[in-house]
Amino acid sequence: MTSSPPIVIVGAGVLGLCTAFELHRRGRSVVVIDPGGANASAVAAGMIAPAMEAAIDDASPERAALFRVSRDLWPDFARAAGIALARRPAEWRGGDAAGIAARMRTLGFQARLDGERVVTDEEYQVDPGQALAAMTAALGDAVVNGRVKAVSRLDDGWRVETDRGTLRARALVLATGAEGAIAGLPEAVREQVAAIQPVRGQIGMTKQTLAGHVVRGTGAYVAPMGAGVVVGATMEPGRRDTAPDAATGERLLEAAWRVLGRTPETLEIDWRAGVRGASADGLPLAGAAPGGQGVFMALAPRRNGWLLGPLVGAAVADAIEGEPASPHARTLDPGRF
Ligand SMILES: Cc1cc2nc3c(=O)[nH]c(=O)nc-3n(C[C@H](O)[C@H](O)[C@H](O)COP(=O)(O)OP(=O)(O)OC[C@H]3O[C@@H](n4cnc5c(N)ncnc54)[C@H](O)[C@@H]3O)c2cc1C
Repeated sequence: MTSSPPIVIVGAGVLGLCTAFELHRRGRSVVVIDPGGANASAVAAGMIAPAMEAAIDDASPERAALFRVSRDLWPDFARAAGIALARRPAEWRGGDAAGIAARMRTLGFQARLDGERVVTDEEYQVDPGQALAAMTAALGDAVVNGRVKAVSRLDDGWRVETDRGTLRARALVLATGAEGAIAGLPEAVREQVAAIQPVRGQIGMTKQTLAGHVVRGTGAYVAPMGAGVVVGATMEPGRRDTAPDAATGERLLEAAWRVLGRTPETLEIDWRAGVRGASADGLPLAGAAPGGQGVFMALAPRRNGWLLGPLVGAAVADAIEGEPASPHARTLDPGRF
């Protein structure tokens, strides 16, 4: 008896690994292919921040509910995958405290107003390096090094050509971040991947402990990371370059000192940049790709890839298994465009 080929996931960022891990824990055979090296997921701050993101972006109640649903998937997902999930308060110091607190409460989140600050206990944080390593370890031999060069349709799936060899896939999951479409994909899929907008983000890591919990304000946030903090992050639509920019770093740091209300000090800071993919409505593309044919998408989460990872993973796994999509997963269906 020949066993059925695996589900091949292209890309080992947060969306590829969350999808692969979800399928793996449902007993499916998966292979994840990635060339390694830094990606957007690795440089992120790892904030699982439904209340702040919803309030700052003035999200609709539906979008806030979607953020909350994914946040609520995190404790079980993290336990299963061996990811350390920190629960700490998150603080807003960027002005209009009463407005931000009111917005959080209207959207169903708890918020405390403390003078000009808003504090919420609704959020988690992961260390992206630890989380990516934990999911990779949990998947074992299923994560392989390589770059997918081209794919071609077979009667019962796909032929996947990588720079290390060729394999067969019963289904293909595209989790390629902000990169372009792989050769050989159906035209409708290529068009949808090409429409994903790159959004560069610069962030800096320092060993100095400037804050014990996430502090956000105008132009910057400071979030715990390891023994120090990260200072982030820019949103630069249309840019794909990942070399850190000194002037951008200076601006972020000035904003961070203002947010913390502290006099600037000299810091040793390691600046990095990553490129997030964003769809036209800012929500991920998660589910069957246009035209079907065994191609699925786990793409374009904009700046909420960590928050939305488990929800995207479950939506893609349900689509592959032919399970009915949950109402929240339907919002992420690539067919909405
Ligand atoms: C500075 C910054 C801070 C952020 N902070 C947060 C935060 O606090 N909370 C939050 O929720 N989100 C945050 N984000 C957003 C989040 O990091 C992204 O939404 C998320 O990482 C996107 O994940 P991804 O899997 O789509 O893409 P990526 O992480 O870019 O992964 C895509 C992978 O696909 C691989 N790939 C591409 N093409 C191929 C191919 N042909 N063959 C094989 N592999 C391929 C790439 O090598 C890459 O490893 C932040 C982002 C940045 C840049």
